[in-house]
Amino acid sequence: MTFKFAQRMGRFEMSPSARTSQRARELRALGHDIIPLSSGEPDFATPEHVVEAAYAAARAGQTKYTTTSGVEALKDAVIEKFRRDNDLDYGRSEIIISAGAKQVLFNVFMATLEAGDEVVVPAPYWISYVQIPQMAGAKPVVVPCTADSGFKLTADGLAEAITGRTRWLVLNSPSNPAGAVYMRAELAALAEVLRAHPHVGVVTDDIYEHIVFDDREFATIAEVAPDLKARTLTVNGASKTYAMTGWRIGYAGGPAELINEMIKVQSQSTSGPCSVSQAAVLAALEGPQDFVPQRAKAFETRRDLVLSMLNQTDGLKCRQPEGAFYVFADCHGLLGRRTPEGETVQSSADFVRYVMDRHGVATVQGEAYGADGHFRISIAASEGDLTEACARIQAACAALS
Ligand code: PLP
Repeated sequence: MTFKFAQRMGRFEMSPSARTSQRARELRALGHDIIPLSSGEPDFATPEHVVEAAYAAARAGQTKYTTTSGVEALKDAVIEKFRRDNDLDYGRSEIIISAGAKQVLFNVFMATLEAGDEVVVPAPYWISYVQIPQMAGAKPVVVPCTADSGFKLTADGLAEAITGRTRWLVLNSPSNPAGAVYMRAELAALAEVLRAHPHVGVVTDDIYEHIVFDDREFATIAEVAPDLKARTLTVNGASKTYAMTGWRIGYAGGPAELINEMIKVQSQSTSGPCSVSQAAVLAALEGPQDFVPQRAKAFETRRDLVLSMLNQTDGLKCRQPEGAFYVFADCHGLLGRRTPEGETVQSSADFVRYVMDRHGVATVQGEAYGADGHFRISIAASEGDLTEACARIQAACAALS
C-alpha cells in the first residue's frame, strides 16, 4: 500500500541535530572513530539522590497515571523554583508539567496558532520554534541576528517584525545554538516594544537558565517586566540543569486560561507525564543545588578551551558564548575552499559532512538553526575529547585549499 500523508508533513522535518547524531552513531557502529559533539545534552550523570527518588517512587507504587497537568507536589516545587530563582509568583492553576520543554512548546503552539498567524523567532534559533508553529499551520517570521548584536534580537528588529497577525515572540536565553544571554536592560527594551502591541504574547524558553558564564546574572522577561506576565509563558525543565534529558520533564508558568488549553492538548496527546520521572524531578528541585553552578563552571572551562583552539584556526571565528553548552563557529572563511578529495565546500552543511566523514567529529550545520556559514559544537564532552576534536577540526581546516 502507498500511504498518503497529511499535507502538514510537508511543512516540517526530523530535527537535523537528531539526524546528525543518528548518523554519528551509525558510523561508530561501523567502527569509525567519531567524537560526537552534535547532541544537546549534558554529559554529566543524573544526580544520585534523584535516581534514588525514582526507585523509591516506583517501589511505593507511584506507577499509575497522574493528573494530566502533573502531580500537585511537583507543581508546588515548580512554584517554589519560580519564586526562588526568578521572583515570579504562580498558583497551581498557572503551572503545567509536560514530557519535556518541547512538549510544553508543542502544547502552547497547538493551542493558540492557526493558519495565517505569525510567530517572531530570532535566528539563530532552536529548530522547534520554527517547526512546531509550522506544524500548526502558522508562519514563523525569522529575524536574523548577527554576531555584532551578540546574536540577540534588538528592540528595532522586534518592532519591524511585528504585524497585526503576530501571536507570539519566542525568546531563548541562554540560547541554543549561540549561547546568547539577554541582560535585564535588553529584555526591558524588548518589553517596551511589546507594550505598544498588546496582541503579542511571549514564549520564553529558559531551559539553560543555570548555565551562564563569567558571573552573568540570568533574567527572564516576566520578572523584568511584570506587566507582561499576563501574556508570557515562562518555559523551563529538568533536562539541562539536572542532566535529565531522558526523563522527559519540562514545565511552564503562565496565565491559567492559557495553561488550561495547553492541558487539553496534552490530554489528547500523551496524558500526564511519567509518574516516576515526576518524582525524580521533585527530588531534583527540592534537593541540594550546589552541583548546578559547579557544572556550569565546568562548561565555562570547556568553552574557554574550545574557543582558544578554534579561534587560532584559519577560516574560523567564534564569538564567546555567554551561556548554554555550545560554541557556534563562523566558517564563512572556509566556504569556496576545496577538500583534498576535490569537493568544494559550498555551505556549512558541506563542511560539517567533511569534518564528520574525513576527520571524525560530529557537529551540526548552521542551516539547522537558520544561520548558514556557521556550525554548532556541543561542549558537553570531556576536556580530552574536546581537545582531540578541536585538533581534528584544525587539521580538517588546514587540509582545505
Ligand atoms: N529548548 C531548547 C532551547 C533546547 O535546546 C532543548 C533541547 O535541546 C529543549 C528546549 C528541549 O528540552 P526538553 O528535553 O525539556 O524537551
